[in-house]
Parts: sequence; C-alpha cells; structure tokens
Amino acid sequence: MASRKPTAPPELSTSDTERPGGLLGPAERALAWRRLADEPFDVLVIGGGVVGAGVALDAATRGLRVALVEARDLASGTSSRSSKLFHGGLRYLEQLEFGLVREALRERELMLTTLAPHLVKPVSFLYPLTRRLWERPYTAAGLLLYDSMGGARSVPGQKHLTRAGALRMAPALRRSALIGGIRYYDAQADDARHTMTVARTAAHYGAVVRTSTQVVGFHREADRVSGVRVRDVEDGAEVDVRANVVINCTGVWTDELQRASGSRGRFRVRASKGVHIVVPRDRIVAETGLILRTEKSVLFVIPWRNHWIIGTTDTDWNLDLAHPAATERDIDYLLDHVNSVLATPLTHADIEGVYAGLRPLLAGESEETSKLSREHAVARVAPGLVAIAGGKYTTYRVMAADAVDTAAVDLPGRLQPSITDRVPLLGADGYHALVNQADLLAARWGLHPYRVRHLLDRYGSLLHDVLAHATHPDHLKPIDAAADYLRVEAIYAVAAEGALHLEDVLTRRTRISIEYPHRGVACARQVAELMAEVLDWTPAQVDWEISVYQSRVDAERTSQTKPDDTAADNIRANAPESRRHLAEPIL
Ligand SMILES: Cc1cc2nc3c(=O)[nH]c(=O)nc-3n(C[C@H](O)[C@H](O)[C@H](O)COP(=O)(O)OP(=O)(O)OC[C@H]3O[C@@H](n4cnc5c(N)ncnc54)[C@H](O)[C@@H]3O)c2cc1C
Repeated sequence: MASRKPTAPPELSTSDTERPGGLLGPAERALAWRRLADEPFDVLVIGGGVVGAGVALDAATRGLRVALVEARDLASGTSSRSSKLFHGGLRYLEQLEFGLVREALRERELMLTTLAPHLVKPVSFLYPLTRRLWERPYTAAGLLLYDSMGGARSVPGQKHLTRAGALRMAPALRRSALIGGIRYYDAQADDARHTMTVARTAAHYGAVVRTSTQVVGFHREADRVSGVRVRDVEDGAEVDVRANVVINCTGVWTDELQRASGSRGRFRVRASKGVHIVVPRDRIVAETGLILRTEKSVLFVIPWRNHWIIGTTDTDWNLDLAHPAATERDIDYLLDHVNSVLATPLTHADIEGVYAGLRPLLAGESEETSKLSREHAVARVAPGLVAIAGGKYTTYRVMAADAVDTAAVDLPGRLQPSITDRVPLLGADGYHALVNQADLLAARWGLHPYRVRHLLDRYGSLLHDVLAHATHPDHLKPIDAAADYLRVEAIYAVAAEGALHLEDVLTRRTRISIEYPHRGVACARQVAELMAEVLDWTPAQVDWEISVYQSRVDAERTSQTKPDDTAADNIRANAPESRRHLAEPIL
C-alpha cells in the first residue's frame, strides 16, 4: 500500500487538514462488520438509496443507535438513475396536487440554501409555446403559482419570451417549433453523489453504514421482527443484527424484502422504467434546459456539465431489478421527441451515454390505496418492521422523517422530533466562503480555478480532505481519458466514500460511464490501479475488475441495440457481477 502522507501545501492551516467524520473507508468497513454483530441497534435501515440514507440520518440525529446496510453500492438502485432534478413537478400542478408541489418546493429551497448548497444548483428550463391564445396565460398562471409556492425564492421567477427571444436563448430550436416561450427555474444535483453524501453525513452522526451488505433473512421473537441476517456479498460471511425496529427502504425491492420478512405488506411496489440519453453540450446550442410536452408526460433536456441529459421514458418493467436495460426503441423514442423541435437532429452517433432506472411506484391493494401512486406510503407492516416506498427523490427528507415517526411505537423512550431541516450535509458548512476563495485555493494547490470550483461543487468544504489524499504529485493530475476528474478523486472514492469496485467509481462516484463515449473503458486500468493503492488489490484483482467492467459495458451496448425489453434484459442480466456473493433473489 502506498504511504498515505499527503502532499498538502505548507501554508494550509490545521483546520484545513482536520479529518472530517463520516469516513467510509476500508478500516471503517471492517469496524462496521464487528459493530453489526456485537451491538444492539434502535433502528436497522435496509437500503442505501436516498430514502434509506435519509432515514439513517434522520434517526441518528434524533439520538438513536442506527445501522444502514446496502446490498450493493450506495445509490446503486434508482437513486443514481433519476433525472437529477429537485423539483416541485409542474405536472403535479396540472393534476391539482398542490400539497405535493408545495412540499417538494420547500425541500428544493432547503437544499439550495441550507442543507446542500454545494451539491444542489439552480437550473433553468425553457417551455416552448406552440399554441396561440390559451397556452401562454394557462402556463403563466401555473408557473406563477409554482413560483409563489416557494419556488422563486432562491431562483429567479418566470420570464416571458417572444419567439425571437426564445430562439436567442435556445438557437438550436427549429423556428417553426414554437411561437414563443416561458423560462422558469428548478434545481438539480448529481443524485448518486448527493445520496452518498447523505449516507456519509449519517455516519458522521454515528450511524454504522455498510455497503455490499445484503439482508438475506429476518429474525422474529414471538410476533415481532427483532433483527435481520446480513451477508457480506464480497466474501459470503454472514452475521445476525439485532434491532428494535427494521425499516425497509428498498424501493423496487420492497415486495421481495416484504416476502422474506414473512409479514403481509400493506402496499405493493411496481417498477416503471425510465431511460435517459446523454449527448455533448455542443450538439444543442442553448443557454437553458428545455421542457417539452409528450403524449404521456414531459421530456426534459437538462444541462449537465459539458453535456445534455435527455429523458425520460415511462414503461412497465417486470425483469431484472438491479440492471434495467435500455432498448433501441427507448433510445429512438427519446431521439424522435427531441428531434421534433431541433433544427439539426441528433443521431445515435451523438450519444455518449445511456442509463435506465426504475421508478418505485405504489400499487395499492384496493381502489382506495391506488391513489397513493403519486405519494409515498409508510406503514408498520408488523411489530418491529416499517416499510416506506414511493415518493420522489426531492422529498426524501420528508419521507425519512415519516418513517422514523412511524417506528416510534417500537422504540424505547421518548422519540425526539426530526431535525434534519437544520442539519447541513457534509461539505455544506463553509462552502460559500471557499467559493469566494477559489482563486486562492487554486494557486495553493497548483490547480486551475475552474477545477477548484468543479471540486467545490462535488465535495464542498471536504475539498481539503479530498486533496490531502494525493500522496504523489501525479494524483493531482486529471485521469487520462476522463479529464473532468482528478486521479485523487478515484483514491478518495475508496478511502472515504465507500466505493469497493471499479464500477462504483466509474458509474457513481464519478459519472465517467455516461459522460464519455468510451463509457469508462479507456480509463478503467488507470482508475483500477489508483483504487488498488487503497484497497491493496493484487495485479490479478485489478485485471478481474477491469474485465467485469468491460463485460458490463459490452452488455449494455449490445442490449441497447435490441428492440424489446426481454431481449435487452437477456443480454444485460448475463453480464458478471463484481459482488460475487449476492443472493438474487434473497428467497
Ligand atoms: C427515470 C427516473 C427519473 C426520476 N427523476 C426524478 C427527478 O428528477 N426528481 C425526483 O425527485 N425524483 C425522480 N425520480 C424518482 C427517484 O429517483 C426515486 O423516487 C428515488 O431515487 C427512490 O429512492 P429509494 O431509496 O426509495 O430507492 P433506491 O435508490 O432504489 O434504493 C433502494 C436500495 O435498496 C437496496 N437493497 C435492495 N435489496 C436489499 C437487501 N436485501 N439488502 C440491502 N439492501 C437492499 C438496493 O440495492 C438499493 O440501493 C426518478 C426516477 C426515475 C426512475
């Protein structure tokens, strides 16, 4: 293993180099395993998506003893595959779901201002008007409501544009595709990074957080759930974990866990697939995102660093939950819709990346509960077992508080109220001051100011900790075939952010797998070798990680040429897993 003595510049103060809490490195992982086996917990959270991470943070900051176990990687399910918007949802406004919109906009505001200003940023959208007379006043009234519900506090309000004005803002649009436009603001974040930061913040407040740790069974005492059996999916070892209450936060896996628990669920969760494509920024000349109406819903063209994310689709999915596959039909649907407004159409050759995710939609057991489909549901499904699912990314904090409130009856003592609306995520404190100091920091570390700002928007005030992991000057250089990221970021991903496999770094700690046409293959060896420095991988392990990753990319590319879900799933599901001891399904 390389020496971990950092190359920090001498003029840094001690507070600059103080280690933050919430580390998820190899030493913490080993300790977490012992704690899972030895300590009783108040709350055991299953699932390291945004909801599970949020529940762990909510419970830990109420003073409870908390453990969170995630079968694969943090955010490896839906929470890394969304449209990445913190939004109220204009669609819900149209469906007169005012309560939902207001709640989501309040969360958006909290994220932008207090909880995660380093990760969550304003983003503008142009709504091209296509119909004369009624459409402008109708949309304007909706946006006025949206803005006044808490929308336009940290972000500008709506702006009305003539056709010429809209075309100046988005010259890529075909002249005949609009008669005018309205621009409004929402917010966006790197969902995988945000979820991981929520989990690290939970760990910072004392939660045991362990990835590659799958729940494979439940323990009961009389009629109550008293704990779970977990498997380390890296080596197959198993231990029993005791908890007063277990909270099932497994999204589209909710029913599987419900079955394994032996209790009757109060709601069911079905999966709906949504696909996005990623294209280079210069293929669509516009200074704003776009929101376009489709037959069923809306299509977003979302600015994403030097790229656009275009999505999404909405189709039922009954196949492999871990690896939903995009088909050629999904991609054609997205291209057809976006091309209907573009002067220069996009082609398959423009696509840099593709990803598919599964919405955990609630399916009630009766007519009455089917109205739950747009909201989240939380239920005490058995003594000692709570389940929560549905909702959307934006409202994870509210969902988390609801789940912990519901667990109160199974907890000893008085439960403190939720305080997560006042708990900034790791990296938020001091972020704004560091942004003002970006030029100074750049000079200190020998980096370009642009690079420092990019790092601040990924790590906030953890920046110093990230850079202190550079044990060699080369670590401060960009990754060869993915220059948006520094080499030290791959090291930090394994040393502090819980990444265990090449796939975790290329698809979630960084987004290289969707941002570069090589999808991570061209830098796989370099990244694996950087990871090996922390994880003590042998050359054979490095080769194995690369070959598993390469197979995954090959399978994804091939599945994306298949016309239908079954054919695409057949290809994708057969690619090897880097987590060798996963039980699929668990029962
Ligand atoms: C295409 C698409 C676009 C979206 N866009 C947006 C958006 O722009 N804004 C928005 O607000 N919402 C959006 N959403 C919704 C949002 O992404 C989801 O509601 C949210 O991510 C769900 O999080 P979760 O934690 O419930 O599930 P997940 O993120 O899926 O987490 C569940 C976790 O449980 C783990 N798990 C499963 N079984 C076990 C086990 N046995 N042991 C341990 N762990 C286990 C899984 O590995 C997984 O990591 C979108 C969804 C989709 C699909």
